[in-house]
Amino acid sequence: MSKKILVVEDTEDNRQILRDLLGMAGYDMVEANDGAEGVAKATEHRPDLILMDIQMPVMDGYEATRRIKADPALASIPVIAVTSYALSGDEQKARDAGCDGYIAKPYSPRQMLAKVREILG
Ligand SMILES: [Mg+2]
Repeated sequence: MSKKILVVEDTEDNRQILRDLLGMAGYDMVEANDGAEGVAKATEHRPDLILMDIQMPVMDGYEATRRIKADPALASIPVIAVTSYALSGDEQKARDAGCDGYIAKPYSPRQMLAKVREILG
C-alpha cells in the first residue's frame, strides 16, 4: 500500500506542486487548507508523514504541530515544517513546536523528495 502524506498548506499553487510531485513518486496525498483542518485530517487519516506549512490562517503550523504532538494517537507521525520564512531561528521554532524536520521554501523537487524518502524510506 502506498504511504500517505498529509499536506497542510493554505496556498493552492503550493499544494498543486506537491500533488504533482508526490503523486509522481507514488505517494497518496491528503490535503488540508489550514492548521485546524490539518489536525482534523491527521486524526481522520493517520498519515505516515505530515508536511506542515507554517504561515496559515485559522491556526498556524506551529500550533497545529503542537496539537498533533500532544495527542498520543498522533504523536509518532513525523512532521516536517515547510516554511518560506528566511529568518534565523525559524528552524529552532519549528523544532520547539515538535517538528521532526524542516525544509525551506523555495525547495527543489529533488530536495523535497529526498527529505520525504529520508523519513518514509
Ligand atoms: Mg502559507
